[in-house]
Amino acid sequence: MIITFYGVRGSTAVPGPQTARYGGNTSCVHIELESGHDLILDAGTGIRLLGRKLAHKSTPVNILLSHGHWDHIQGYPFFAPIYQVDRDINVYISVDSGRKLLSSLFEQMDGTHFPVRAEDLPSNNIPKFKGVESELYEREGIKVIKRGLNHPGGGVAYKINENGVTCAYVTDNELDPPYTPATTYDQWVDYLHGVDVLIHDAQYTEADMPHKHGWGHTLISQVRRLATDAEVGTLVMFHHDPDRSDSELDEIQIENEKYLKSHRAPTRSLCAAEGMRIELTKPVLGGETRISIGP
Ligand SMILES: [Zn+2]
Ligand SMILES: [Zn+2]
Repeated sequence: MIITFYGVRGSTAVPGPQTARYGGNTSCVHIELESGHDLILDAGTGIRLLGRKLAHKSTPVNILLSHGHWDHIQGYPFFAPIYQVDRDINVYISVDSGRKLLSSLFEQMDGTHFPVRAEDLPSNNIPKFKGVESELYEREGIKVIKRGLNHPGGGVAYKINENGVTCAYVTDNELDPPYTPATTYDQWVDYLHGVDVLIHDAQYTEADMPHKHGWGHTLISQVRRLATDAEVGTLVMFHHDPDRSDSELDEIQIENEKYLKSHRAPTRSLCAAEGMRIELTKPVLGGETRISIGP
C-alpha cells in the first residue's frame, strides 16, 4: 500500500510563502493498493495534480468522499480522468451520507459555477451507494470499513485494510463535540486500534478554543492522545488550519514528538505535507508492517 498526499489543508486552499513547504491544497490522498486498485480519499483542490498522473492509466478510479464540504469536493471539476471517454469513475458514497453528498459533488458542475456540466462529461461517473452496514467495499483482499464522523452535517471515516496492512482516514472529526457524538472517544479507540497509519484531522490548538468548539475539528493535543490510546503505528496530522504557517507546523511536530516520547508511546508522528509518500509492506513470512516515508 502506497499513500501519497496531494492536499493536506482544511477549509480553503492557501497557497503562498507561509505554506510552501507543507502545501496549500485542500484534502486529497491517493492510495495505491498492491492489487493495482487506485483509491482516492476526497476531491479537494489537491486532486488536480493527481488527475494528471492518473490520466496516463486506463483503470477505474475509485473515489471515497468523507463528506460534501467545499474543501473535499472543489477539485473534482479539475480532475483530468473525468474528461476521458469511457473512463470509469466510481464514487463510493455510504447510504447514510447519501444523495445530498452526491449532489454537492455533481451540482457544482451545473454550467453556472463551472462551465462544463456534469451530464456532459464523457467518462462514466458511477455513483455507488453502499453501506447500510459498516462495510463499504470488499473485494480481492481489500476491505473498507466506515465510521460516522462528529462533524456538522455528518460524514464518514474510512479504514482500509489490504492483506493485513491498514490505513485509517479520519478527517473533519471532533473528538469531544458539544453534542451527542456519532462516534464516542472509546469507539474511536476501538475502531483505530493498532492501525499502521492514522490520518486524522488536527486543525486546532488550545488557542482556537473555546470559540471553535462544535465546529467539527479536533485539538492536536486530543489527536495525539487518541493515537497513543489506540496504539497506532504512525499518526499523520492532517487538515491543517489555513492560518497555520509552515514554522508553526514544525513546532507542533516537535511538541508531538516530546509527548509521544514522554508517554513511551509506540507511535510515530508526522505532519502531512503535499508530496509525502508512505509505503507500507507486510513481510511475506509475517511480522511487523514495514514503513518507509519519502518526499
Ligand atoms: Zn474539511
Ligand atoms: Zn467539513
